[in-house]
Amino acid sequence: MAERRARPGRTLPFVVGLCVLGAFLVGLVGVFLEEDETRRAETGGQRSALEAYASATLRRALEDEWRVGVALMEPAVSDPLLDDGALLLVSDGEEVLPRRARGQERGIVEAMEAALAGVELDTDDDTPAAERRRFVLALRRALEKNDRPAIEGAVRGLLAHRRQYRLAPRDDVSTVLAMVELLQREARPARQLLLGVLRDGFGPGEPGVQRDVLQSSARLSPGELSSVCGVVERQSRRAQVPVDDFARRCASIAGRQPPVVTEAPEGFTLARGWVLRGGREVRGVEVSVASLLEAQQQAMRERGLLGPDDSLTPTASAGPVEGLTVQVASRRWARAEESRRAALTLKLGLLALAFVLGVGMVALAFAVQRREQRLVEARSELVATVSHELRTPLASLRVMAETLERKVEGVPQAKDWPQRIVAEVDGLSALVENILSFNRLERGRDVFHRHPWALEEVRGWLEADAPPDVQVKVTGAERLVVDADPTWMRVAFLNLLRNARKYNERTPVTFEVSVSAHQGRAVIEVRDNGIGIPEAQWESVFEAFHRLRDARGRGGGGSGLGLAVVRRVVEGHGGSVRVAASSPAGTVFRISLPGGRFS
Ligand code: ADP
Repeated sequence: MAERRARPGRTLPFVVGLCVLGAFLVGLVGVFLEEDETRRAETGGQRSALEAYASATLRRALEDEWRVGVALMEPAVSDPLLDDGALLLVSDGEEVLPRRARGQERGIVEAMEAALAGVELDTDDDTPAAERRRFVLALRRALEKNDRPAIEGAVRGLLAHRRQYRLAPRDDVSTVLAMVELLQREARPARQLLLGVLRDGFGPGEPGVQRDVLQSSARLSPGELSSVCGVVERQSRRAQVPVDDFARRCASIAGRQPPVVTEAPEGFTLARGWVLRGGREVRGVEVSVASLLEAQQQAMRERGLLGPDDSLTPTASAGPVEGLTVQVASRRWARAEESRRAALTLKLGLLALAFVLGVGMVALAFAVQRREQRLVEARSELVATVSHELRTPLASLRVMAETLERKVEGVPQAKDWPQRIVAEVDGLSALVENILSFNRLERGRDVFHRHPWALEEVRGWLEADAPPDVQVKVTGAERLVVDADPTWMRVAFLNLLRNARKYNERTPVTFEVSVSAHQGRAVIEVRDNGIGIPEAQWESVFEAFHRLRDARGRGGGGSGLGLAVVRRVVEGHGGSVRVAASSPAGTVFRISLPGGRFS
């Protein structure tokens, strides 16, 4: 039968188990988080290195664009035929580049038409503008008369007047255009002359009309600029003077919206598609960050720094150039990030599940254990009650059997039955006592009440308890004292005495107790002349309910509890008991108790 004990301290293993499981899981959480951090740092490191590289490259590209643009700025200021669309120059609040028709001046074409129509002027008017008109009128008249010297004189005079006076575009351009118009209509002007007049000019300070018109564009309205450009273009084509670039410039200047940037901070700044450098003079170069990044992306792909799906995007579209950064968007990294997150979530989820399962199992085990404990308690309660109730009837039975023994003494028919009844009752009583003792030892705490106990007492107990056919001998117990509970010690010795008689075929039964002191311990050897215990059973005989199959001897009922009680009593006192020797000649039990001293 299995040995079952109910101990309140049994909850401790569950608590410890749960703590160990918790600590283990917390440790694992730490490991997983660390691993996750390492993975994140790895991809993060790659990513930030790449982004730093891409940002630096973009900044360099912007600076290059700036250098190239700025180098074009001065030529574009002086030659309006050069494209200035990607350049910005605002000097002292004045827009210089890109050129834009933003003025109010009009009437150039009308003035030209009037000059062509020969509208006479007030004779008192001697302003340079009137003087200039008179050259046109003179030319008109000379052409009508086909007076070549007069024609040449009028042209030369007009050009010389032009050299001398800088008139407003309305008076200057209208007269020059009227002159060209008249010459083209009425004469066959030399191409060289028209090339000079319309395009190339005649030296510094005397630009051709094309440049002149573009240079003055800021003073004209967009509509005015378009109509003047139309006339110049027509005349230029007719004279076979290069005009395509002029036409393009006219179209772009007339169509330009007001500039959005007129001031900027002093450092390099990126704003609305321009790299700017501010201060008193704002200079800017138009850039396309998108196409710069596109080119950069391509180059990085070719070098294997970016995958086919990866792309570069600026983190901001405006701000100081030195703070400009680029972000690398990569599906590869997004996937890695996703799988990292998913792996971490899965791992933490599994840990949480393991913890919940662990708690569940502990709770279940605890519940089962509690239930088992209650059952064991109930059973031992029952055993104690039943055994206790058996004591009184057994005592009465013994008294009655002894009385009967006396009464039928000498009656042959009674045989030895009364003695056998007494023996059986004694066996039963011993069994009941052992069950009660065992039960108390199993259930109770503070069972033993120790105080100094003289081993000498054993002699008196054995003499009182031993049946007549047992020879008891106690040696060496004099003055030896240990701390023990004598009541329980007597129970232990009584069990050994009973066994010595029970498992014995000799007469007389001998039961010798020899006591000695050894290294602060009391050593008690109990020797009998019984049938012996096979060596293989020397330990197992101390187990509760363990009995040997072929136990011979005077027999009588046994429960397998006697030696179990002995061991629990001795161990309860901090001592030990074992079979020291055993053979068919007898058995020696050795008990060792701590604190042995002489009184
Ligand atoms: P029981 O109540 O059956 O006597 P014990 O625990 O006292 O139970 O003993 C267990 C077994 O050990 C017994 O069944 C017996 O076979 C053996 N035994 C115990 N004491 C002795 C002894 N002194 N001599 C021989 N055998 C013994």
